[in-house]
Amino acid sequence: MSTCTDSVVGDILSSWRYDISGISPEMRTDYEEHLATCAFCRSRQRMHRTIDVALIGLSTLCIVAFLLALAVIHHVEPLRSAAVVMHLEHRIVVLTLQAAAVLGLLASLAAWILVAIATPAPVYLTGMAMEQARVLQDRIPEELRARLRA
Ligand SMILES: [Zn+2]
Repeated sequence: MSTCTDSVVGDILSSWRYDISGISPEMRTDYEEHLATCAFCRSRQRMHRTIDVALIGLSTLCIVAFLLALAVIHHVEPLRSAAVVMHLEHRIVVLTLQAAAVLGLLASLAAWILVAIATPAPVYLTGMAMEQARVLQDRIPEELRARLRA
């Protein structure tokens, strides 16, 4: 299906980036119904959530990368300080790298927070984790029961 079955509801959903997690449960039913019946909006919703998760994943990776960079610089610095002759340009290079890594870290932290606030990614990820936990919880007693029966 390439078009929405109800353009009025579809437009509203589109303006919310297909995120209905913020609306009250009573108001949500109409939109949930539409999402259940409209394949177009459902695929759009999936695309938007994929983007959200990709963004938060990317900013998390950036944070880790800049933390690693800082750790490496921190590790290199004492070795350099041990040198009897400290070349000024080397010091400047290390300081510049350090400043760049700190700035990068702050920028990716800010990006992470923005994504977490502006998108339903945390809600979505929490929901997925809960779902997984429920699946596991359902599976474990079953296996135990099967083992007891055997
Ligand atoms: Zn639709």
